[in-house]
Amino acid sequence: MPPRPTRTAAPACTCPAQGRTSCWTSWISARSAISTSRSLRPTDDGFAGGQGSADALIPASVTHIGRDALDPDLDVPAALRAWRRGTRGIKQVLLDQTLVSGIGNIYADEAMWRARVHPERPARATSVATASALLEATQAVMRDALAQGGTSLDALYVNVNGQSGYFARGLEAYGRGGEPCGRCGNLLSRATIGGRASHWCGRCQRRYSPRRAAVR
Ligand SMILES: [Zn+2]
Repeated sequence: MPPRPTRTAAPACTCPAQGRTSCWTSWISARSAISTSRSLRPTDDGFAGGQGSADALIPASVTHIGRDALDPDLDVPAALRAWRRGTRGIKQVLLDQTLVSGIGNIYADEAMWRARVHPERPARATSVATASALLEATQAVMRDALAQGGTSLDALYVNVNGQSGYFARGLEAYGRGGEPCGRCGNLLSRATIGGRASHWCGRCQRRYSPRRAAVR
């Protein structure tokens, strides 16, 4: 078991649990120089829960994995810089778990549809604004999916009650090749890109053209 923090008298605090001896929130926030915007909840035994640590131990086998797209500690400028590097298509970059993790094939297709980005746009030809819009779309898609219990396309992936997630019913791009785009009516395209099935709208998500980019 990790050593418990040493109990010392905590100064008066201003959090909602003010006045209770079990409240260590503000004290630990100040002591750890962690942003006071974070909410730390005291546990029943008086020790702060969820404090975490910048020096948290991570198994060596997973240190190459980037922070999750929904991780509040994700370094967004660094993530966008990493996404905009190299000649790979932007979809392959999104699926690269060493840059930003948690983005699966389905969510990548949905995010690119929402942000109107073609999956084969070269990473280095992606502007900061486009990469930023793509990250926001990715986070929105993942939050929506979480709220609906995920995207279960396989009977093996169910919750403890045997129920599948409902996000699959709201997919706009993934698995809808040949069906009309929900935004413009154009028939959605399907192809294998980087070994993964990909779906997009050829009208909403225009293929990158160096000539067209040069004209702008
Ligand atoms: Zn469309």
